[in-house]
Amino acid sequence: MKPIQMKICSNQQVSQRYWHMKVDASELTEPVMPGQFFQLRCGHDLNPFLRRPFSIYRINREEKTLEFLYLVKGAGTQRLTLMQAGDSVDVFGPLGTPFVLEDEWKTILLLARGVGIATLAALAQDAAEKGVQAVAILSARSRNDLLAAETLQGFGAKVLFVTDEEQTSGVDSVREQIESLLAEHPIQAAFTCGSKRLSRLLQEITAQHGIPGQIALEEHMGCAMGVCFACVCDVRDGEYLKTVRVCKEGPVFPLEKVVLG
Ligand SMILES: Cc1cc2nc3c(=O)[nH]c(=O)nc-3n(C[C@H](O)[C@H](O)[C@H](O)COP(=O)(O)OP(=O)(O)OC[C@H]3O[C@@H](n4cnc5c(N)ncnc54)[C@H](O)[C@@H]3O)c2cc1C
Repeated sequence: MKPIQMKICSNQQVSQRYWHMKVDASELTEPVMPGQFFQLRCGHDLNPFLRRPFSIYRINREEKTLEFLYLVKGAGTQRLTLMQAGDSVDVFGPLGTPFVLEDEWKTILLLARGVGIATLAALAQDAAEKGVQAVAILSARSRNDLLAAETLQGFGAKVLFVTDEEQTSGVDSVREQIESLLAEHPIQAAFTCGSKRLSRLLQEITAQHGIPGQIALEEHMGCAMGVCFACVCDVRDGEYLKTVRVCKEGPVFPLEKVVLG
């Protein structure tokens, strides 16, 4: 796999803290799956030196474009906002393991917080294409950060919102929401990204209900190729703990196996 220069179709601010980038992926030969990520060079020089990882937000197969939704955090993402339509961005990927949608699943639950919403949007798209009903709980600081909600609704997902601003995003409140969704819908699998606190909650609830779960982890990464071991986490392997690399063995893992510290 080699880095590819992808032409930027658009790169726009879509809310107070989030930006959206669409790139021309016609040169990409490998298939892209929800849950996988790309390493983007956030400028035309080596500043910052390390690429930054971003999940795939939308895959437009006919148009041969890819979309990323990113939160402006530090030097890398700030520099990414300076790139304009017509510029090229140096992209490496797709990397990592994807989410798996089993054929027999007809209804799934998505639980996302913050930028985790971007990661689960691609899964909602895949679910819609396969005729799977998605029900989602999206958690964010404020309604202004819930912009991907419309994307999920566009894919036919039923979406509930919880926010810090409205004091609806606490664990107890989300627990109630999940339990009522489980009572209302025949949910066969659950997926999460973006919050260890909510993932622990989902781990507990899915274990109680005997529902399989998958989690996409977002750890700090160095090389993202499995060499530097900057992004390790622990997973349960029988009665033992095993240390794995999020970039290589993940970022998607079975929810019940991940040790969420
Ligand atoms: C597999 C994967 C997929 C991701 N997908 C997305 C995505 O779709 N959209 C998106 O906006 N972001 C995503 N992220 C997070 C994104 O990579 C970081 O926000 C970005 O690298 C920050 O770069 P920066 O140079 O702007 O900030 P930096 O200067 O590198 O960091 C700013 C602050 O954020 C913290 N930080 C940086 N990276 C992470 C991280 N991975 N987890 C927790 N804290 C971090 C730093 O400690 C620092 O405090 C993903 C991360 C991973 C590992």
